[in-house]
Amino acid sequence: MALVVQKFGGTSVATSERIMAAARRAIRARQAGHQVVMVVSARGDTTDELIALAREITEDPPAREMDMLLSTGEQISIALMAMAVQSLGWPAISLTGAQVGILTDRFHTKARIRTISTERIQRLLRDGYIVIVAGFQGVDEADNITTLGRGGSDTTAVALAAALDADLCEIYTDVDGVYTTDPRLVAEAQKIARISYDEMLELASVGAGVMHSRSIELAKKYNVPIHVRSSFTDAEGTWIVAHSPELEQQVVRGAALVRDEARVTVEGIPDDPAIVHQLFARIAEQNIVTDMIVQNVSREGRNQVSFTVSRSDLKSALALLREIAREVGATEVHSEEDVAKVSIVGAGMRTHSGVAERMFAALAAEGINIKMITTSEIKISVLIDRHRAVEALRAVHRAFDLGLKRDTDDGQPPRQRPTEPVRADRQESLASIVQQLPGMEAIVVSDIVVDRTQGAVTLFDIPDQPGIAARIFSRIAETGSIVDMIVQNVSREGTTHLSFTVPRPDLHRVEAALTPLLQELGGSLRLAPDIAKLTLEGVGMRSHTGVAARMFEAFHDAGIRVSLINTSEVHISIAIAEAQAAEAERRLRTAFGLPAAKTVNY
Ligand code: ASP
Ligand code: MG
Repeated sequence: MALVVQKFGGTSVATSERIMAAARRAIRARQAGHQVVMVVSARGDTTDELIALAREITEDPPAREMDMLLSTGEQISIALMAMAVQSLGWPAISLTGAQVGILTDRFHTKARIRTISTERIQRLLRDGYIVIVAGFQGVDEADNITTLGRGGSDTTAVALAAALDADLCEIYTDVDGVYTTDPRLVAEAQKIARISYDEMLELASVGAGVMHSRSIELAKKYNVPIHVRSSFTDAEGTWIVAHSPELEQQVVRGAALVRDEARVTVEGIPDDPAIVHQLFARIAEQNIVTDMIVQNVSREGRNQVSFTVSRSDLKSALALLREIAREVGATEVHSEEDVAKVSIVGAGMRTHSGVAERMFAALAAEGINIKMITTSEIKISVLIDRHRAVEALRAVHRAFDLGLKRDTDDGQPPRQRPTEPVRADRQESLASIVQQLPGMEAIVVSDIVVDRTQGAVTLFDIPDQPGIAARIFSRIAETGSIVDMIVQNVSREGTTHLSFTVPRPDLHRVEAALTPLLQELGGSLRLAPDIAKLTLEGVGMRSHTGVAARMFEAFHDAGIRVSLINTSEVHISIAIAEAQAAEAERRLRTAFGLPAAKTVNY
């Protein structure tokens, strides 16, 4: 006997026939001997209609009353679902978020779950009930109804699965799984059989929004296996599970596009770590979510920092940055609005070389210029002109054969919760940190990893034209070296700087391979052999603003200079001088409440 949470989205409960079909599905699981908790969304467009109704009354509806209103959509669904199950002869009971005891913080319309009490559900399950819970809602400490943000029923479902220690969380929806990219943009897109939490998070943040990101963060924290599948068929969908080695066999699992990005750049920032800290702290204070953060190596004592924000935040970000620039004596603030971000994601990037090269070559073949590059362990993102975005997405999708059907990936459900041995201790240390969290959805920085094996290469003043990055990385690929962090920032007067890290022993080979190319292209090269790469691993790094700010704060009065930075959904990586690595790690551990580093004996 297993405990299963089944979540049905809005389209899966839109009509009475579909409600009956969902009820039959739950009953089938019950007949197979499982305990079943159903989580349901509001029917069809109910939530949109309620929002429209509120706007007819007032432009600016108070958030508390908005939650009172929106929570009714799910309440209709649970009542109808309980009737449906009972009409088929099975015991069922509907419960609101408050009745279940889903306690949230008090931020109306975007509340985060703190705790869930499970006694009542557990008792009902033992008595043979199918328990039907309203998604998307909870209550705060003062018993006000709260909602979790649009799409929040996924988060309710996974949180319940975690709290009840369920064996599985099934997400029934109107698509049959997660795809290698948006099938509306790329016809060859294929359903993915199996994907890790981290890959899914990196893809979700870049636009493959099949599920609420917060639900995947919870699944990762509590190791809840998820099966996303169609409510209209019995076909296998996509399994979202913990990382396992066989997931690395495929280098790239998916590609994604974010269209509405805007880039802001601050030029000529005095090279003082306190200033960079101030900049990010004040951006975070305004709740502006920064995405690709790129800080270029400084020259002549001045730095350049760029980051992308969503287009809707551009105006407020610019106003704030101009103010800061004036105060700290930065020379210029500028922005670019018509940009889009294309990313590839895959756990196999950790262990395969030539991935960046292949991506850049695909873009070069289309004559698409790369305006900015940033990477994580399992993701490479480039910023390009928006009008070429879909072509770029198609080109990279093709370059990694993502349109091919894969029979190695057989789509069989994992027999047990897969955790790779080397990663098992990570999952364990995550679990022990999660136990001490103030709330289920609180931010987690679960580990800091220090890597002293790499050196950095910076190419200054190379031409900012299509195909240059492809040529550079194809030369590097010929040396067989595995490139890790890559950072390229905004061009000035037609040239740009590009930095990347490679294993230290490879530095001179890479230099030798690039020197003839630089003679042809123009530009110069600098090696930095004694850097350390520090990676903050965690959950919710991007959706909670201020992680980067907290990191810079930890450094600012110690004179620790961050020479490269890469940010993503699950990592923040920085390069600093190796001599400062121990101090930097100690400070970060304190800032993020992590235990002191274990001493490793070699
Ligand atoms: N009904 C809510 C919405 O439409 C929550 C959900 O469907 O997940 O956003
Ligand atoms: Mg939904």
